[in-house]
Amino acid sequence: MATLRFQALKEALNREIKTVEFPSTSCSEYFAINVFDKKKMQKYLSKDVFHKLINAIEQGANLDRKIADQIATGMKSWALERGATHYTHWFHPLTDSTAEKHDSFLELTLNEEVFESFDGSKLVQQEPDASSLPTGGIRNTFEARGYTAWDPSSPAFIVNKTLCIPTIFISYTGEALDYKTPLLRSLSVLDKYASEVSRYFDADVKKVITTLGWEQEYFLIDEALYNARPDLVLTGRTLLGHASAKDQQLQDHYFGSIPQRVEAFMQEAEIESYKLGIPLKTRHNEVAPNQFECASIFQEANLAVDQNLLAMEILRRVARKHKLRIIYHEKPFKGINGSAKHSNWSLATDTGVNLLKPGKNPKSNLQFLTFLVNTMKAVYDYSDLLRASIVSAGNEYRLGANEAPPAIISVFLGSKLSKILDDIEKRIPADAMTPNEKTEIKLDIGRIPEILLDNTDRNRTSPFAFTGNRFEFRAVGSSGNSAASMIVLNTAVANQLKIFIEEVEKIRKKGFKKDEAILKVLRKTITASKPVVFEGNGYSNDWVNEAKKRGLTNIKSVQEALKAYLDKKSIELFENHGVLTKKELIARYEVKIEKYKKQLQIESRVLGDIVLNHIVPTIIQYQNLLIENVKGLKEIFNKDEFEVLADARIDIIRDISLSVSTIKLKSEQMRLARKKANNLTNCESIVIAYAKEVKPFFEQIREYIDSLERIVDNELWPLPKYREILFTI
Ligand code: ADP
Ligand code: MG
Repeated sequence: MATLRFQALKEALNREIKTVEFPSTSCSEYFAINVFDKKKMQKYLSKDVFHKLINAIEQGANLDRKIADQIATGMKSWALERGATHYTHWFHPLTDSTAEKHDSFLELTLNEEVFESFDGSKLVQQEPDASSLPTGGIRNTFEARGYTAWDPSSPAFIVNKTLCIPTIFISYTGEALDYKTPLLRSLSVLDKYASEVSRYFDADVKKVITTLGWEQEYFLIDEALYNARPDLVLTGRTLLGHASAKDQQLQDHYFGSIPQRVEAFMQEAEIESYKLGIPLKTRHNEVAPNQFECASIFQEANLAVDQNLLAMEILRRVARKHKLRIIYHEKPFKGINGSAKHSNWSLATDTGVNLLKPGKNPKSNLQFLTFLVNTMKAVYDYSDLLRASIVSAGNEYRLGANEAPPAIISVFLGSKLSKILDDIEKRIPADAMTPNEKTEIKLDIGRIPEILLDNTDRNRTSPFAFTGNRFEFRAVGSSGNSAASMIVLNTAVANQLKIFIEEVEKIRKKGFKKDEAILKVLRKTITASKPVVFEGNGYSNDWVNEAKKRGLTNIKSVQEALKAYLDKKSIELFENHGVLTKKELIARYEVKIEKYKKQLQIESRVLGDIVLNHIVPTIIQYQNLLIENVKGLKEIFNKDEFEVLADARIDIIRDISLSVSTIKLKSEQMRLARKKANNLTNCESIVIAYAKEVKPFFEQIREYIDSLERIVDNELWPLPKYREILFTI
């Protein structure tokens, strides 16, 4: 039975390292060669059309049909020259991956003459039907049409001879069925209020963009070993497997030298990413064996999200070429670190200022503090929503597992910055300031960069950490679409900035100067958001108790956490800013909860299958060997000797029998629990039944099997073991 495992192991061990073909030119020359970026636009479009398109990209201006036709013609010429044969609208449905339906450029005339066609209407809008994508009940079958509409702010690109046009995906009735639509809406409200606040400090600011720099963690596994594990293939994680005696305890993998085979994979993936304009910057070994990370240089958030999804796909494809499989699951292996997608977030003005970077003078530092403090407050007020945006069946295993932040959302500032905020809070009087007080406070604020200069504070246990010039949202899972958390963060911060402006204006109306009004509101906002600031160890039990005292929520269950989408407070936030309607929020909740249930259902079925068809027969086989052995002993030894010699073996036979009975019983109980859950009528009670009645069996069954793995003959064990999967590349 173990032949598949040994064959796989042999294949993996004999794998040759694929040689990478490097382009003959340097990276800067082929960077974005497959992207219809500004340079290509300029080349393939008339001056007038180019300017109109840039205006649409930068200011969101509308493009009429005639212009769209001209853009389509230019794009087509470029794509055909690059060898493209097809085009597709490329969008982000609510599945966490991307969707595409390819159409050929090919057309026939009535005289059967063949030509290539692509016009404005095909560029701007498509009706891909796509009725099988999740919609959370928004689309009834009679109005099942879904539309994709071009997002000019993210450039078209060519993958494998297909021109991909980034689009939003909406229903016939206009509801968002994707991540991009609300992301764009959230970016635009944040721009509105952040620009308004920035103009308190610099009247020239016209636009504020959100920047996102993602760090993508993943595991690599040899293809043969992967294929010999049905759990990895079907669920993305191992449902069984005894820990390897050595895994990450020696801390020798993190930042270790990159294995040659992996390096070749990374190099090829980077070349492909560069051709698509994705600026991958960093690569390194992560904490767990076979775990790696790549990080891209930050970009405008909409583009960064598109690039992350595209990069994930490129990595997936290139991995296969190297006979590797990439695992994006948040917790593919029990007992070792899981994977995240740290999302570095900041705001930048069109005048080139990073709003979360301390500045050179008191004014720019006051601006920095304004954005810092308002972000803290937004995170505090909408922590439940932020959590809802990152929970999933996979992330549930990672969060709070002593390697990732807990389910409590807190903000880390670093001791120095924290102290600065405390001082400011104390020094700003509740009533009017004397000119002296004002000067002193301003001087203090001016000193922030010096104080922070050697601030190397890093807190890896915080879900939302300030890292010197940006916030790093560390709780985000590796497999999902980072837009989900960006939508919440952007909208919450936009909302807080709006409140900030209202409060500042109210005080100014009372006759206070702008600066003083800002300081006063900051003081109040610092006081109000204090409970969310935590500088200590987020993994400790003390923090759980402390957080409780502070009134911070700690919701571990996915289904409970997702309810935040349905809160009155959340609906108001999203509706007030036109980011998501109540109907769209309910739909998102339903899609997520349904997905969670389905994942548990699949895991449960796969586990049941592996247990009954792979593990139990193996164990019985091994038990038979022991029985034969005991029978043999009985034949050759006298009764007294036999009793002494066979004792231990008989114990094992007994233990195995008991384990098999228990495993079979628990598998059957799990199946019945599933059946019972499926028969419930209400969606929420089904999910609760899966979480509370089905899921607990996973660990119970696993415990027995993982201990059997230690005693059953290695030659018979059917599934590649952790020590093999994690140390064979
Ligand atoms: P670390 O592992 O120490 O967090 P990395 O170099 O792996 O650092 O990742 C840092 C990420 O933060 C990169 O993607 C980088 O581009 C991004 N980043 C830096 N400055 C900003 C910014 N102003 N806005 C958004 N992201 C940023
Ligand atoms: Mg990081």
